[in-house]
Amino acid sequence: MLNLLFPKVCAGCKGQLLMGESVLCLECIHSLPMASFHKTESDMLKDKFYGRFLVKNATALIYFQKRGLTQELLHNLKYRGKKEISSFFGKWLGAELAENHHYKAIEMVIPVPLHQQKLKKRGFNQVEGFGKEIALALNVPYRDDILIKISKTGSQVFKTRILRFEAEEVFSIQNLEAIKNKHVLLVDDIITTGATLEKCALQLLKGKNVCVSIATIAVA
Ligand SMILES: [Zn+2]
Repeated sequence: MLNLLFPKVCAGCKGQLLMGESVLCLECIHSLPMASFHKTESDMLKDKFYGRFLVKNATALIYFQKRGLTQELLHNLKYRGKKEISSFFGKWLGAELAENHHYKAIEMVIPVPLHQQKLKKRGFNQVEGFGKEIALALNVPYRDDILIKISKTGSQVFKTRILRFEAEEVFSIQNLEAIKNKHVLLVDDIITTGATLEKCALQLLKGKNVCVSIATIAVA
């Protein structure tokens, strides 16, 4: 009855979802530009971090295209509160990673954190659903109390806006003991330059004998 009054629509094309479809219609699913580095032996994504920090494995599910379906989806997730998009991709990737020998050994999933202020404004971390579903599929804990995003320092006030944006991102780590000797999967919504993931990974690698892999919804 509810479905008749408020038909469920596709988060990509806004078309009505058919029975058995949820979040995305089949047509949208089939038109997604898949990246799926975990399915190939390609180190293309991993190589993005070469010389920056040691990453064990790196994968992204889809390619981000400007003005395309992927942009619409990430925009709906981040700015229109469509949290289910995050979980949808998490379930998808989680099921595939659980069958993948490179990722089976993951022992914990850790999200790139949002700043407390932004979390309040947005109401949720856009990567949470994605990370939680992957953790569920791999049967490991999801921990969002390890990495934290802290405030910018006052010294950046005079830099240009662009510079300040990059410099603003400062991460810190707590509960280091929890990741000791662990292979952790760091998750985010999108990889662009990789600067954010690098900063987070460098924090995680402060832990004793920690190994870091990366998984994101999209790669630009
Ligand atoms: Zn659709």
